[in-house]
Amino acid sequence: MNMIEKFIMNHNLNKEEFVELIRLAEEDGSIRQQLREEAVKIRREHYGVDVFTRGLIEFTNYCKNDCYYCGIRRGNRNVKRYRLTKEEILDCCENGYVLGFRTFVLQGGEDLYFTDERMADIVHAIRAGYPDCAITLSIGERSYESYKMLKEAGADRYLLRHETANEELYSSLHPKEMSYIWRRQCLYHLKELGYQVGAGFMVGSPGQRMEDLAADLVFLKELNPQMVGIGPFIPHHDTRYAAEPAGSVERTELLISIIRILLPKVLLPATTALGTLDTCGREKGLAAGANVVMPNLSPLKNRRQYELYDNKICTGEEAAECWGDLAARVERIGYRLVSDRGDAAV
Ligand code: SAM
Repeated sequence: MNMIEKFIMNHNLNKEEFVELIRLAEEDGSIRQQLREEAVKIRREHYGVDVFTRGLIEFTNYCKNDCYYCGIRRGNRNVKRYRLTKEEILDCCENGYVLGFRTFVLQGGEDLYFTDERMADIVHAIRAGYPDCAITLSIGERSYESYKMLKEAGADRYLLRHETANEELYSSLHPKEMSYIWRRQCLYHLKELGYQVGAGFMVGSPGQRMEDLAADLVFLKELNPQMVGIGPFIPHHDTRYAAEPAGSVERTELLISIIRILLPKVLLPATTALGTLDTCGREKGLAAGANVVMPNLSPLKNRRQYELYDNKICTGEEAAECWGDLAARVERIGYRLVSDRGDAAV
């Protein structure tokens, strides 16, 4: 049995084997094709042709962190900061609900204004108003008690990319007050509290090697999250990495296929970053094994201010246009956008 067959059969490899798998696949288009076909077969087994939607509400671009790659990092003085009120957030949910969204993702920088009490109040209001919807939070590292309170207020899921499973690379991408150990600990706390958890990383972050990606795959298998968000790194003009090359679309597609085989039932988005680098990026992500898209429900007036990287797409479209456009794109490649909470298959 060769390495590819072993991976397809066991849904796992060790770190050295993952390095070899990525290398072989990048050298040989027929291996990439084999992995893609297997990934698509697996996603069809678990999810048919359904593509789940998440309504993304980017509710604050204030952030206390200074991640070196991120456009909304604390140190970027050129960002016009905003935060939505509770009423504005609820309006986004209402617009989204009417369009068919049954998951709302509240994402933001680590904004100290949103204390546990304020966040719990918002989650509680969404839970009461939309009992048939899932609530996903993506608001960074918080204490165990904070995660517990938000879970009790009604949150179902939490997205917290681990960013990289190599401590050295983590330290080169973040200031020293940010801890690789604590970020991983947060993911385990979230799991323990019963959240559906999402981890993930950027493909092609500055300094990333093949071994680092292999370490990410080993970590994902160990954590066994319900969701994995990966997208290419894209430089932002106001960061130290402004002149770095963006991550590769092809490598991202390959990793999507590998992650689908590694974690067969995982919820795997075709991310906005992928759609930003390539006009057909989201279709390519779906064709590689992804099964989720995350259109933007944030108010139009704030969209451009949530600029994590340059040229981000969907900053000028109304949510409805976004849904219509995506539904058509998804249908063209043989899938179907569904109005559903979209929980992970059991
Ligand atoms: N503050 C929350 C957190 O830390 O998880 C959520 C917001 S954070 C901006 C969301 C994700 O954006 C990060 O996990 C990171 O992987 C991604 N991101 C930030 N800058 C990026 C860039 N330049 N290119 C691609 N993705 C980026």
